[in-house]
Amino acid sequence: MERQEKPTAAYYLRRGKRELSTHRPEKAISSLRQAVDAIPPSCSDELSQALYWLSLALLRLDERPLAIKSLASAQKLRRRGYARRLYLRSVNEYGMPRQASPDLDDFYAFTNLQIAYYLVKKSTSRRFDSFQEKDTVLRLILDAWKQLSASGQLSGIDACEKLDIFRNIKIHYPSFGLSGSHRVIVKASFGASRTTGLMAGSIARSMTKSSADRCPCGSGLPYGQCCGRVKHLKEL
Ligand SMILES: [Zn+2]
Repeated sequence: MERQEKPTAAYYLRRGKRELSTHRPEKAISSLRQAVDAIPPSCSDELSQALYWLSLALLRLDERPLAIKSLASAQKLRRRGYARRLYLRSVNEYGMPRQASPDLDDFYAFTNLQIAYYLVKKSTSRRFDSFQEKDTVLRLILDAWKQLSASGQLSGIDACEKLDIFRNIKIHYPSFGLSGSHRVIVKASFGASRTTGLMAGSIARSMTKSSADRCPCGSGLPYGQCCGRVKHLKEL
């Protein structure tokens, strides 16, 4: 009789761990996702454990952004233990996968935030519709980044203060879909992003908080690594 029942979360978790130990991370990811789906949110310890193993399988396939997402959830459910230790070892001050240098950490945080703002605002599909659109948006973001890093605003401040600046920079994008009109609109927006961006950044400086500030949710982590972490585009 038991055999006809739907497999339990514990079954999927065991299977996922076994697949991971026998070097089949793709299969493990699928099983562990089923485990995560099958565990009720009230069972926080079990859910944390399944998310932790899922992150290990994702790391095995070098899917770092998704592994971090999984780990971030795992350590939120269980604030002490292996999930939190691995999370803190894996993330930078923005709660993103650690890059090769602090400058790159800043760059990735800024570009991910700005691309996410663009895509979320644009449509529910959260995707670029054409190569041209993607190319233009990325160029404008890169231009804003160059201006921001050259402005000196980022020197001597911590990640939380930088995040406030990043979040306050509004880049103006052209509307896409009208063929032949891109060049003119892009040019106009290019100038707009420069002025608006740096002005917004200056305003942000006056209302920043320190990264020593703990997250208001009570996790004990800095805000930038907790509820204020920068989500990678893959998490959208
Ligand atoms: Zn928090």
